[in-house]
Amino acid sequence: MENYNSLVSKQRQFFHTGKTRDIDFRISALRRLREAIISNERKIIDALKTDLNKSEFEAYSTEIGFVLAEIRFTLRHLKRWVKPQRVKTPLTHLGSSSYIYPEPYGVALIISPWNYPFQLMIAPLIGAIAAGNCAVLKPSEFAPQTSAVLEQLVTGLYPEEYIAVVQGGVETSQALLREKFDKIFFTGSVSVGKIVMEAAARNLTPVTLELGGKCPCIVHEDANIKVAAKRIAWGKFINAGQTCIAPDYVYLHREIREEFLCELCRAIRSLCGESPLNNPDYTRIISQKHFDRLRAFLSEGEILIGGESDRERLVIEPTVLTGITWADSIMRDEIFGPILPVLDYSDISEVIEGIHNHPHPLALYLFTESSSIRKKVLNDISFGGGCINDTIYHITSPYLPFGGVGSSGIGKYHGKSSFDAFSHKKSVLKQTSRFDIPLRYPNTKNGLKMIKFFLR
Ligand code: NAD
Repeated sequence: MENYNSLVSKQRQFFHTGKTRDIDFRISALRRLREAIISNERKIIDALKTDLNKSEFEAYSTEIGFVLAEIRFTLRHLKRWVKPQRVKTPLTHLGSSSYIYPEPYGVALIISPWNYPFQLMIAPLIGAIAAGNCAVLKPSEFAPQTSAVLEQLVTGLYPEEYIAVVQGGVETSQALLREKFDKIFFTGSVSVGKIVMEAAARNLTPVTLELGGKCPCIVHEDANIKVAAKRIAWGKFINAGQTCIAPDYVYLHREIREEFLCELCRAIRSLCGESPLNNPDYTRIISQKHFDRLRAFLSEGEILIGGESDRERLVIEPTVLTGITWADSIMRDEIFGPILPVLDYSDISEVIEGIHNHPHPLALYLFTESSSIRKKVLNDISFGGGCINDTIYHITSPYLPFGGVGSSGIGKYHGKSSFDAFSHKKSVLKQTSRFDIPLRYPNTKNGLKMIKFFLR
């Protein structure tokens, strides 16, 4: 049986030397990471092409460029983030001052999925390094080329007692989860998220769980139809729909049904070409299992556009299905592929009720020009994050914490939130010893009276 006890002990020992806490050490680690990513750009792009047939454009914009921007942002702000933060002190604590010290948890475990195999490993790693942790990285076994490049890159940069890469499948993950880590950061499916949290609970290890689910995309009757169609087609079919925050389905207002569907078809053709299966840059489905699961959905509702597939090359055309209801099996779980079902509605209350009957979405998108509809949806529906009049774009802002709620996840990251995800906030009260207010002592004259006055 695989055993990672000695690796974790080695990292914990290294952590206790205090080296990783040093701010210059962290900055240097991040700078070297950035340089290595830049000099290995070609290798990363080629690996993503082999694993998923990702185009260079997508590989750069959604994986490489994304993490370079995160590193740049972190380097720009890190010196400020690591400083103890002075906060207010109540009057009752006269003579004292209060501080919050961010400190690294220690040894972190990061487990990532295959759909953005580079970005989803490096982005949390940036947070782990910035916060001063050691880390064990377990990339996805389903993107083997990218995982190999990741390992090569990371082992070339850092000693194993600081950052280590462990390759392997489910058994490897399970073996790692038997160890005691100080923080676990997991990105993947809801079902595995539960396994991870159970394992973490045995050691009371804090977790960040970046999970999935069905992300609704509402197109209201007053939406800018052309813009909505373009942005939804882009958000859905990027990475062939294998994006945790891709619009899973469209809730479409009946008044604009024909016009929107017509624009959507136009947008898809313009984005993916007349014959997407022959487009050399069209991302493939990760495995036969997922291909077969997705293809089974093509018999539901009516195909408006697409519907063709090639099992040999694991590609499925961008497909829109109309006449879908919650009773169809495509509406049961996250689709995670290039198939977009469309549900119709007449009143926004139907949409809210439909979403309330299902787990909290990781993302929600609303296309409308009406502030009352916007307010209603934002007020009535709980979801991880999202956009008004756009899709996906909220994930690209370092100022917006990214993560789910309910079964779509626990915790947030990106920008400062990545630093926070890997930091414990140590609250410290610095008290004076020059005088001693007697309030707390039960033998003080009128002590209870005074306590009652202050603690109302
Ligand atoms: P997955 O949950 O199957 O696997 C993720 C990781 O967990 C892999 O490294 C895998 O080796 C490991 N793993 C698998 N089974 C395990 C088990 N029984 N015990 C311990 N570890 C195990 O997910 P996936 O198929 O790689 O990725 C797709 C899922 O990830 C989708 O549900 C998607 O929504 C979600 N996702 C979420 C985000 C986000 O940021 N919230 C981003 C990308 C993907």
